[in-house]
Amino acid sequence: MSYLTHLECSVCSTAHDHTRPQTVCTACGRSLLARYDLVRAKKELGTKNLSGRGATMWRYREMLPVSRQEHIISLGEGFTPILPLTKFGSRLGLRHLMVKEEGLNPTGSFKARGLCMAVSKAREAGVQELCVPTAGNAGGALAAYAAAAGLPAHIFMPDDTPEVNILECRSYGADVRLVPGLISDAAAAMNREKDPAWFDVSTLKEPYRVEGKKTLGYEVAEQMNWDLPDVIVYPTGGGTGMIGMWKAFDEMEQLGWIGSKRPRMVAVQSAGCAPIVRAFDAGESSSQFWANASTLASGLRVPKAFADYLVLGAVSASGGCALAVTDEQIVSTISQVASADGLLLCPEGAATVAAVNQMLELKMVEQSERILLFNTGSGLKYIEVLRHLNGR
Ligand SMILES: *Cc1c(COP(=O)(O)O)cnc(C)c1O
Repeated sequence: MSYLTHLECSVCSTAHDHTRPQTVCTACGRSLLARYDLVRAKKELGTKNLSGRGATMWRYREMLPVSRQEHIISLGEGFTPILPLTKFGSRLGLRHLMVKEEGLNPTGSFKARGLCMAVSKAREAGVQELCVPTAGNAGGALAAYAAAAGLPAHIFMPDDTPEVNILECRSYGADVRLVPGLISDAAAAMNREKDPAWFDVSTLKEPYRVEGKKTLGYEVAEQMNWDLPDVIVYPTGGGTGMIGMWKAFDEMEQLGWIGSKRPRMVAVQSAGCAPIVRAFDAGESSSQFWANASTLASGLRVPKAFADYLVLGAVSASGGCALAVTDEQIVSTISQVASADGLLLCPEGAATVAAVNQMLELKMVEQSERILLFNTGSGLKYIEVLRHLNGR
């Protein structure tokens, strides 16, 4: 059911066996990417094959890495709607401002896509226990899919992670350990305390979370009738969704599903943690660790993304850019969009809206262009932000 052939290093192209658990390239230590038999897939798999399939990300199963149907651990992830921001958009003079509502995923964030894939494939490869350092939503998603798979999960979080993320993980029965500092400190603690049998599903050190997030790209294409938007604005932490969508566009072109036209990819970060923006502005191909990272958009609090070079590569190749917005802009955007269009965005999603404002001021976008934003999580998971917003 899958056209997966092997894993390939994103830097040195060394091939790796996908039937065994794999992390990074054994030759150079960089991220591995899944490769498929696209020549055969092009002959056998057309967009018409999709009709009548279920409304989850598994409708693209031939282009996903799980080999056997019975290894899929699904909680109904993906195929989320694309909604127009009609009133908010018209205030800005934008005719086609749209948001993919990822808050409707299991565990209330799009981390479900990646962790669903990672847990399913890990179990298929015989992994017995899972672990991850996380700034919040990845922990909840891992805990849920690990529970569904019947595998123990060990989750390392900064001790100031929002309480709802901690309680969510514990509710699914995960072993949660709180670590002083940032996600990078949580990762260091995990590497000290880790049992050799635990499999680390850190994004892009594990090759399949990006395959889950890749389905964003397939869905956007299908939902927009195989005509991609002009601009994609993506809230970038580790950059998994950005890398995944860019990969999906390439695969779909080789399948003959779309043409060569690509959206301009815009990476949005928070002014309190903007390593990708700083690197983009300096014309560099990788980023530097961002000291004292701080933002209420916890999903964007990633001081150094492991596969930053792939994010920066996609942004530049697409003719896009990287922009930072402040926490103040994020908070005021949440209430404006909520009262205008009835969508309670998460701070990361609100950051993409604030970035569009900036792009208009800088004349980086035309009012007639089709702009797609991502609301990557449910606003309801951010009780501290809602309290702040309401002066409580
Ligand atoms: C993790 C996360 C992000 C960042 O996603 P990446 O693909 O790793 O860049 C954005 N928003 C939310 C809500 C997240 O949980």
